[in-house]
Amino acid sequence: MDKKLDYIIVGQGLAGSILAYKLLQKGKSVVIIDESKGETSSKKASGLINPITGRRFVKSWKIDELLPFALQFYKSIEETFNTDLIQETKVHRILQSVEQQNDWAAKTKDERYVHYLKNKDVIFHSKTLIENPFGCIEIAPVLKINTPLLIDIFSSYFEKNNLLQRVKFDYKALKIKENKVVYKTFEAEKIIFCEGFGAAKNPWFGNLAYSFCKGEVLWFEAEELPEDFIIGGSTNITPLGNHQFSIGSTYSWDDVSMNITELKKQELIEKLNAIVKCNYTIIKQGAGIRPTIKDRRPIIGAHQTHKNLYIFNGMGTKGLSLAPYFAEEFIEFLEENGSLNSEVKLSRFSKK
Ligand SMILES: Cc1cc2nc3c(=O)[nH]c(=O)nc-3n(C[C@H](O)[C@H](O)[C@H](O)COP(=O)(O)OP(=O)(O)OC[C@H]3O[C@@H](n4cnc5c(N)ncnc54)[C@H](O)[C@@H]3O)c2cc1C
Repeated sequence: MDKKLDYIIVGQGLAGSILAYKLLQKGKSVVIIDESKGETSSKKASGLINPITGRRFVKSWKIDELLPFALQFYKSIEETFNTDLIQETKVHRILQSVEQQNDWAAKTKDERYVHYLKNKDVIFHSKTLIENPFGCIEIAPVLKINTPLLIDIFSSYFEKNNLLQRVKFDYKALKIKENKVVYKTFEAEKIIFCEGFGAAKNPWFGNLAYSFCKGEVLWFEAEELPEDFIIGGSTNITPLGNHQFSIGSTYSWDDVSMNITELKKQELIEKLNAIVKCNYTIIKQGAGIRPTIKDRRPIIGAHQTHKNLYIFNGMGTKGLSLAPYFAEEFIEFLEENGSLNSEVKLSRFSKK
């Protein structure tokens, strides 16, 4: 490994991996330090980029820019690493009432939404499979990115190039100098922290407007359930292939432990029973902590005092769409004097 580097990156989840990869593509020298715990947000992510969510069918923030950008980025990864990561799919969102039918009908005429609501028919699935008395609407395109595979691809690539250290970062060992940082045998111009929920323990960025959100997921098998769309409703039922599906995930703001709970298992089974009418078998349960910020925007920028310490975090519930776009914007900010979107700047939380 080189000792003199442009960047040290802490964290090899979605945020750190994409940032490191893009920096390498720009010819920068990088080392990545990750403690390689099995249970990270990125390894638990369902991988969906769903442009329209919520009870009132609202478009996700900046989705018209984020979705095509993400699609192009993940396609380039597929090509470079000769792998299958992306599934272009659709959501069949279960309508709950006549009011929702009317809301949706209005949205299909709204030109800001038509791109995602091209199929204007209400779809009715067999009620022996799916409970949908008011029918379903179709949202497309929706992307499903195989996120655990993506993280594995990046790990192998970084390891092959001798760029990944699988150890816990020791904050006490970081020496901050005027124009560089020194960490053990490495000397770098800048260090970027991408620890996801691990940022809570960071001495320089541990006290930001975090509002971490635990998510639990159940995996189940159902022979008869259709596999060519995601069922959307009070939660998502996502086909995984071979008659396997996931349901979830849940949202808990007051529990940041990684353990799975009986309470959330029962909550998901209730939702599953309310939607799925055919037989199923539960396979397993999992949990992860989403790195969410109070205003639901990423958090990016330099430390107020130590200008060579940076954070790239806060991807929250939408890391798959946010990380590629904002990694690019962040690198332009770091390397080409570009500007950061005011809604993601770390400085938005500084006291005036
Ligand atoms: C159940 C669930 C479902 C989700 N579904 C979706 C979805 O469908 N679509 C979507 O867009 N998003 C989804 N998300 C959110 C998505 O997973 C996150 O936005 C994204 O993965 C965050 O990536 P990250 O790199 O910031 O954090 P993480 O994935 O948590 O990565 C942080 C990394 O930092 C490392 N680290 C932390 N501290 C240290 C340290 N001191 N030393 C060394 N290494 C350290 C960890 O080992 C880890 O590898 C979901 C999340 C969960 C939990």
